[in-house]
Amino acid sequence: MSTETHTFQAEVKQVLDIVIHSLYTERDIFLRELISNASDALEKVNLKQATEKNIFQGEKDLQIDISFDEEKKTVTIKDYGIGMNREELKTNLGTIAHSGTKALLQALKEKGESAGDMIGQFGVGFYSAFMVSDKVELFTRSWDPTAENLKWESDGAGAYTITEEESELDRGTTIILHLKEEYEEYASEQKIKSVIERYSNYVGHPIMIGEERVNTVEAIWLKNKNDVTEEEYEKFYQFTSKAFDKPRYTMHFQADAPMALNCLLFTPQENPEKMGFGQVDPAVALHCRKVLIDSKPEGLLPEWLRFLKGVIDCADLPLNISRESLQDSSVVTKLGRVVTKRFVKFLAKQAKDDEEQYLQFYQTFQRFLKEGSCHDFENKEALTDLLRFQSTMTEEGKFTTLQDYLDRAKEEQKEIYYLISTSVEAAKSSLYLEPFKARGLEVLLMTDPVDEYVMGTLPEYKEKKFVSIDKADIELDDHALDGTPLPEEELKSLLDWINVSHSEQVKEVVSGTRLVDSPIIALAPDDQMGFQARAMMEAMGQPVEEPKAVIEINPRHDLIKALAECQKTDDEKARRIFNQLTQNALLAAGLVKNPADVANGMNDLVAEFLK
Ligand code: ADP
Ligand code: MG
Repeated sequence: MSTETHTFQAEVKQVLDIVIHSLYTERDIFLRELISNASDALEKVNLKQATEKNIFQGEKDLQIDISFDEEKKTVTIKDYGIGMNREELKTNLGTIAHSGTKALLQALKEKGESAGDMIGQFGVGFYSAFMVSDKVELFTRSWDPTAENLKWESDGAGAYTITEEESELDRGTTIILHLKEEYEEYASEQKIKSVIERYSNYVGHPIMIGEERVNTVEAIWLKNKNDVTEEEYEKFYQFTSKAFDKPRYTMHFQADAPMALNCLLFTPQENPEKMGFGQVDPAVALHCRKVLIDSKPEGLLPEWLRFLKGVIDCADLPLNISRESLQDSSVVTKLGRVVTKRFVKFLAKQAKDDEEQYLQFYQTFQRFLKEGSCHDFENKEALTDLLRFQSTMTEEGKFTTLQDYLDRAKEEQKEIYYLISTSVEAAKSSLYLEPFKARGLEVLLMTDPVDEYVMGTLPEYKEKKFVSIDKADIELDDHALDGTPLPEEELKSLLDWINVSHSEQVKEVVSGTRLVDSPIIALAPDDQMGFQARAMMEAMGQPVEEPKAVIEINPRHDLIKALAECQKTDDEKARRIFNQLTQNALLAAGLVKNPADVANGMNDLVAEFLK
């Protein structure tokens, strides 16, 4: 009998190290994780049976047996599920498949005592066995009739062994935990029962201790809303999402038309993709009359709803539907559409009923709603109505809807103005706001890096275009402007003189009516994205083109008038002054790579005139 020894992948070692040495208060979750794996394995073999003829048959029904040995201080969790072959053992229990492993490790370290909810959600649940064990033995026999009987064993220190077992094993997997001295309490029926009740009550397969079934599977989503307590919702939410928090929103509804449908959906407290985790999988399970069809159905709900948890139970589904054919089924497509519409409506009602609570939800999940408003064609309008923005007319910390923005705007305003910036404070002091403030035009202040993309994809709302206020092609009236401009002739000769040569960052220099108190501003040409947006894209490492600016001068400004005067007598001096003004404008636009150069230029200029 040969034994292979393997070392864990480095990331697994780190997870183990954190799991073993940190003081998590929620140790109990190891059982939840192992039972959930057992349940997954049962579900997988169930599905296998629909497609494979030749399956190594199990001894017992699809159930999970738990037993303990108080003397030896062991707990045993046995399933009659799909089992694993040698290769699967190595990849599943020696490496981590999840793409956001780095972020996960970081979060595990930071989260400390409340790391329990991360472990289950990010595909490292198995390793939690080492929270309470100093040795784990695992026996497994795959569904594949040609597979070996195998034993996997580890003390969690850095290596594991795989040995071929001589005795015949049942199909499925048996895990024996050798408890650490401090955790011997788990080798008792009472303790195990209480943990199952807390975390695993809704597991869809029987969990047996001896002859007794411990989990009471109750499909609360099939019950009438009025017969379910807050606490039951909470417990079910925690079970389905492997979390410890409370749901933010709970939406429970039944329908008979257009299809027979029971649906219980939750939004969690936290955004599961914050802190650099990759995109999460869909998590709303699909059932048909209580039978689980798929716990993570791809393509049932639109992608932007991947933060939702819960269950959809549709009695109209063909029971023999396989995972593969789910996406092609027209019933499933219809089901997804019905539920999505209901959920969007539900959010609109929440926003109306309790704006405060909705805003908190919005601040956590806005990325998903924005994604939806860009890509969910069917619900685009309703989703755009759910977006909230700060603006030059909202009080601090308050938000506006687009509809309210339009209600405040004058009828002749054809566009919706926005400014993208790194923060609301930075936005409010922006030179670009000046012309809009002076004319009483409201500007939306956006600070989310995805906003530029969103604004580009959602080009209009109620037939009004979204326009970034650093763009050159905005027409603003000159009613608000005092003072007389340079006479036309003089202005023309000034512009002709300027446009003979300018720096390569400048596309052209024009005169305009936008500015009020400032002499000069750099604007983004029509065929280019806004400067702030561009800077954000660049900061995020996206490829961006070298920007060029349209420079607009204010023909009413004394400085520009003086420049025109100066140009008549001292060409060189005028040229230097204008170059400096251009640099200042480019600096305000964030287009100057080395701001010190602008200051130096200014100093030189001043020094010269003081001579
Ligand atoms: P996750 O369950 O999120 O994938 P885990 O760390 O809990 O992450 O488990 C890793 C993998 O090990 C599972 O995806 C599965 O392939 C395999 N596995 C774990 N337990 C069992 C089991 N009892 N039977 C079959 N496969 C299992
Ligand atoms: Mg798992």
